[in-house]
Amino acid sequence: MNRRHDMLIGGEWRPASSRANYDIVDPATEEPIGSAAQAGAEDAAAAIVAANAGFEIWRRTGPWERSAVIRRIGALIGERREEIARLITEEIGKPLDQAHGEVQMTIDLFDWFADEARRIYGQVIEPRGLGSRQHVVFEPVGVVAAFTAWNFPVLLMSRKIAPALAAGCSIICRPAEEAPGAVLAVGRCCVEAGVPAGVVNILTGQPTDITPALLADPSVRKITFTGSVPVGKLLMRQSADTVKRVTMELGGHAPVIVHDDVDIEAVARKSVLAKFRNAGQVCASPTRFYVHESKADRFAELFAERARSMRLGHGLETGVDMGPLATRRRRDAVERMVEEARDSGVKAAAGAARPAHLKRGYFYEPTVFVDVPEDAAVMRDEPFGPIATISRFSSFDDVVRRANGLEYGLSGYVFTGSLARAHETAAALRVGVVGINTFVASNAETPFGGVKQSGFGREGGALGIRDYLDAKFINMELA
Ligand code: NAD
Repeated sequence: MNRRHDMLIGGEWRPASSRANYDIVDPATEEPIGSAAQAGAEDAAAAIVAANAGFEIWRRTGPWERSAVIRRIGALIGERREEIARLITEEIGKPLDQAHGEVQMTIDLFDWFADEARRIYGQVIEPRGLGSRQHVVFEPVGVVAAFTAWNFPVLLMSRKIAPALAAGCSIICRPAEEAPGAVLAVGRCCVEAGVPAGVVNILTGQPTDITPALLADPSVRKITFTGSVPVGKLLMRQSADTVKRVTMELGGHAPVIVHDDVDIEAVARKSVLAKFRNAGQVCASPTRFYVHESKADRFAELFAERARSMRLGHGLETGVDMGPLATRRRRDAVERMVEEARDSGVKAAAGAARPAHLKRGYFYEPTVFVDVPEDAAVMRDEPFGPIATISRFSSFDDVVRRANGLEYGLSGYVFTGSLARAHETAAALRVGVVGINTFVASNAETPFGGVKQSGFGREGGALGIRDYLDAKFINMELA
């Protein structure tokens, strides 16, 4: 279906002030499936005015009322889950059941933050003298600007909209240019749920046309970004002049440590599903598999066999395990990384090519490299695609050193049958999220985020609202 998407500014659906649009492409067919407004600096300026007006209304809206509105947003998304899931699949290519999973996680998130809006507890601190009172209250930081990647278009932006609304902030969203439709559908749910005009604004278009205006404006008090490390660094630099609060959810290159006391077939089965979910375009995707030397050959054999048997196709077809990469840029980057590994003599146990039977679309076969040298580019740079590397280890200290050897620190995984080993390995990993015998890295009720260059700040859980609140200390002398 060919849709034309307007933007949401000040409660109104508007085209770009220049009237320009750009095409949105289905990555499985390379055909345009719609277009969206191409915002420019004038639209960004209008969104800033609207968001400031929205903030004045929303900060004075009580927590119980905010909570009810946020819960209605989640309910409306639930009613439209089929439409939103299809939009996600058409725009970025993931299989429809995975898109449904993303929508469910989004509903959970709004439900969670509906409750969090009513749990912004302040503090009363015992005074030094009896004639005084010391209070700490938490207040919304103000207008927030949010920028997100396309790999979980709805979930990533909702991780910013829901806590912002719970805290009493207004927000200007700039979803990834490749996948604005599904985020605009969430925007529609916000409006219909009763979010006042200007509290949620959505600008679509190219980042460099929009973000400089938002970053330069002193009334935008916070930015929150989900994307790559280089763009994250750029946005941090650009935020410095106006000293904005910053949350950074950046890339990862997750290690997986598989000890010798596991059912290796079961771990291989789980690993393949986790690795190739969303064609590996997941920040917490398991990538560097370090398997105990006693099990490494068997693991590699099982992993490669299962990778080869995955069915690729359009995400709307039933029975498809993996869709295309979301953009030509991503497919080309994966291809370059594979070629570089091959040129340096690394052997591929599966994939390492475009699928011969799919002539259109940005498809790439699930790819498995075995015994890759630790200094190979694929072991250092985030593949953000369907590439797994399998290496062997013999000593615990050595595998921990290798697992922690990168500047990334988002997630890490451990497979073991021993509680002591589970604790020891989890404690040793320098990451923000550890999965033990599981690849589930985030839920609405748990904090998600990285350490080192994977970023800072946490989304979800009881910590998720903190980044949207300023603490105010009130010291009172009783007359
Ligand atoms: P990217 O950094 O290139 O793009 C992310 C977003 O930033 C997009 O919306 C893009 O349009 C925008 N952007 C790009 N250049 C910009 C600029 N100069 N100014 C302002 N905005 C700009 O990343 P990508 O390749 O699209 O996405 C993949 C990256 O996102 C990976 O590194 C992945 O690990 C990361 N990611 C992190 C998380 C997390 O929660 N930690 C979640 C998903 C994705």
